[in-house]
Amino acid sequence: MGEGLEQLKQRLPLLDYLRQQNWTARPVGRAGEFVGLCPLHAETRPSFYVNARRNLFYCHGCGQGGDLIRFVELSQHLSFRQSLTYLEQLSAEADPAAVLRQASAFYQQQLDRYPEASHYLERRGVRDPALIQELQIGYAPGGRLRRHLLAQGCSLDLLRHTGLVNPQGHDTLYQRVVFPCCQDGRMVNLYGRSIGTAFAHRFLPGTKGDLFAWESVRHFPSVILVEGMFDLAVLWQAGFRHATCSLGTHLTADQFQQLCDRPRTVYLTFDVDANGSGQQAAQALSHRLRAQGITARRVLLPPGHDPNSFFVQGGDARQFQSLLEAAPL
Ligand SMILES: [Zn+2]
Repeated sequence: MGEGLEQLKQRLPLLDYLRQQNWTARPVGRAGEFVGLCPLHAETRPSFYVNARRNLFYCHGCGQGGDLIRFVELSQHLSFRQSLTYLEQLSAEADPAAVLRQASAFYQQQLDRYPEASHYLERRGVRDPALIQELQIGYAPGGRLRRHLLAQGCSLDLLRHTGLVNPQGHDTLYQRVVFPCCQDGRMVNLYGRSIGTAFAHRFLPGTKGDLFAWESVRHFPSVILVEGMFDLAVLWQAGFRHATCSLGTHLTADQFQQLCDRPRTVYLTFDVDANGSGQQAAQALSHRLRAQGITARRVLLPPGHDPNSFFVQGGDARQFQSLLEAAPL
């Protein structure tokens, strides 16, 4: 029992738990100490301290203090045993969304600090600062995330569990432009596009999530489906806000269901690459969509192009609109 208790507290650090409960705090003094408003009594000046290293809290306002179990007892009005059951269920659910959000925020802060990242975005035609912010584009320089998140009080176990840190203990994403992937409004993954010589596309373990920004796109009677985030970025920049992205030509079952959730027209705008794989995928997908009563049209970009290169090499919104209108059924 005693050993299980310690393991539970390690698996679900107090600070992680508080953050999941939307407690906001700022670091104070020595590394690993945080202060914020007390969740246990009403106050306007922060007096609730958490020592992430010792996994303990203390409030100078109401005088309460202790470990995670004690906090749950007090905040949820549960007995010791009930608190334990509650926390065991919670930690079994293992919610990586919070730490993914923290990682994404960190990567967004790095974007302006590394000229190679800004240069890469420029080369891909993504210039609008408001769009960069809206798409939550970040940069993973590599070798800095782990230290940052540990200093924020995250456990190494949690970082490994999300895949942000690999089994060797190093940052997984290295020299990559990073986009968050969401499902039902929760961040479930990060996609990293290499700006160097490493393999181009990389996800953390787990699902790649919904069609990108589906909540804002789904109400359009017609949608443009692209395979890459940089395709989507230039289309949004050019005013085609009804573009969404499947992150690859293979849609997950959930992504396919999303396209079919009401009658609509889908403009399949996959790469026109030399080996024909993008167009083969588009053709197969258009058959499957039609079987579900969805109007599918294949947009034929000039040979060798994807939507990103089309715009980067001088194509404009009017020309792209003509391609949409000419797209065969
Ligand atoms: Zn208090």
